[in-house]
Amino acid sequence: MLKGLRRLNRYENRIFKIAKDGGKFVRLSQIGFSRKTKDNFRFPIYCLEIGAKSAIKKNPVGIVAGVHGLETIGVRVALDFLEFLVSDKHKDFFPEVFKGNVGIVCLPMINPGGIAKTSRSNPAGIDLMRNSGIEAVNAPFFFGGHKISPKLPYYRGNHLEPESRIVNRFVNKYFFSNKTAIMPLIDIHSGFGTVDHVWWPFAFSHEACADENIYKKMALHLKKNNLHKEYEYGPQSETYTTHGDLWDKFYLEYRNLIEIRKSKSRFLPWTLEIGTWSDIPDYPKKLSHRRGIFNPAKENKQAVIKNYRSFLRDFVRLSCVKPSYWLK
Ligand SMILES: [Zn+2]
Repeated sequence: MLKGLRRLNRYENRIFKIAKDGGKFVRLSQIGFSRKTKDNFRFPIYCLEIGAKSAIKKNPVGIVAGVHGLETIGVRVALDFLEFLVSDKHKDFFPEVFKGNVGIVCLPMINPGGIAKTSRSNPAGIDLMRNSGIEAVNAPFFFGGHKISPKLPYYRGNHLEPESRIVNRFVNKYFFSNKTAIMPLIDIHSGFGTVDHVWWPFAFSHEACADENIYKKMALHLKKNNLHKEYEYGPQSETYTTHGDLWDKFYLEYRNLIEIRKSKSRFLPWTLEIGTWSDIPDYPKKLSHRRGIFNPAKENKQAVIKNYRSFLRDFVRLSCVKPSYWLK
């Protein structure tokens, strides 16, 4: 069997176990299927709800991972966080979830075909983070997204892929129907660089997004009391611009809704880009395998993964602060 398939299977079992261990606090559903592979096989895509149903409705926060099939550290960080959160031993880790103050909705593995095939793109060779159709201003050639060939990385495709449509359905169901809450979402990636970036929109333009002030305030809030200050916060375009970022699309769509509804709710997508180069001097051997550059060395993977638990908890907690605080 393919190594990637075994890995995918392990992650799926962990998703099922989270649903089991969480009891009445967790609901698992299959939200759709991946793009078909050449042999006509489609992989199921799962969605987890964690917390009381009323909290999911009133105060949802999103966690998304596994958009790029090589960046498996993101999937592991998301699963580790949820496992820790629902386990009986750690009920004091995040009591707000069990008191019904906040609900988490999670797509832990949006590109299972990419994970199984050990590829960045989906089974049709399309890079889901270049797939939204949004045109960037001065995106770097090739890396910023292109339409040359699906055989090359960063291929944009010509329409929304099944995986992208699932993210669309997910944000519509849980976030776009909400007219009152401040709703952050974090999409976990990994890759180049030695520091962790926490980005807000836009990826397509250097212009500031309409919620730049709230984003800045949230970044300060996360860094308060000397916590989470090792992360670099800012708009993604400060690092690089790309075509077709899905979060640009959904962020702009929600902004339109706010204008029409005159509501004070906000949908605030973020991207966590885990810098996986910092351990290369200590573990140079990791570069000898394909996923090495996108993931920590196996020797210190577990320690690295645990580091994100408190960051993700405090990120979800942002939505427990009164909306008026963020808006003033
Ligand atoms: Zn990525």
